Amino acid sequence: MTDIKEYFLSNPSSSQVLLYAVIILSLWLIEAVVLATSWKDKWRHTLTNILFIGTALPVQLFMTIFVLMLVSWCAVHHWGLLYILPFANSYFTKYFIGFILLDFCEYLYHVIMHKVKPLWRFHLVHHSDLQLDVSTTVREHPAETFLRMCFLILWVFLLGASFGVLLLRQTLQTVANISSHTRFRLPGKANYVLGWVFITPNLHQVHHHYQLPYTDCNYGDVLSIWDRLFNTCQNDLPETGLIYGIDSHMDKKYNSGFLRILKIPFQSRKD
Ligand SMILES: [Zn+2]
Ligand SMILES: [Zn+2]
Repeated sequence: MTDIKEYFLSNPSSSQVLLYAVIILSLWLIEAVVLATSWKDKWRHTLTNILFIGTALPVQLFMTIFVLMLVSWCAVHHWGLLYILPFANSYFTKYFIGFILLDFCEYLYHVIMHKVKPLWRFHLVHHSDLQLDVSTTVREHPAETFLRMCFLILWVFLLGASFGVLLLRQTLQTVANISSHTRFRLPGKANYVLGWVFITPNLHQVHHHYQLPYTDCNYGDVLSIWDRLFNTCQNDLPETGLIYGIDSHMDKKYNSGFLRILKIPFQSRKD
């Protein structure tokens, strides 16, 4: 156990990649077996999405260098909101408040990606998947990966987030993001109770519905409290009413080829 903890703390990037791979692979297999999807269809769909790892990972790892440099600078200079809050040295402020504030920043980032037209063109790539499953988690345009990391640098600078809270956030985010993209659905009551605090698969499936106003709701990353607070929450939709994708890009042909998808943000079509 101590060895795992040591490895986790001394190799933050590789341990996060490993954790990501283990969770996504396990849920992918469970999804295929439990939901009895055709292996051929599921693999074909996954292959398109999995190629995005090849473009996202180098950007993510390269930008992490700057995030970690900034984290050290904030720690040395005691810079950021978390350093001026009461009990700044306590675990409660550093980790609990730090995590809550970072999750709010992630909510804000997601709203910005939807509301600012030039940025939406890149985030649209994630929404253009007509067949939601765990592999959709990694479907992200490399330009969005870059933007997401630039925003993370901004959040770290404003909050003065420590290495510890970033590692905590990244770990919880990995578990939450991958599980919220599964095809599984929680029973009504469980979704209702868990959904008061967390983004459940049911809630994120509504976010992936192809039409407004559903696309513009449930922006939360790990916590759903921000959606409830800012009135952007849509509790659930019946499974039969869920159609995944985005209404401006419902053409199967244009949504299934990796290179074609990469070009989506640069197409001159009416949104
Ligand atoms: Zn979105
Ligand atoms: Zn999603």
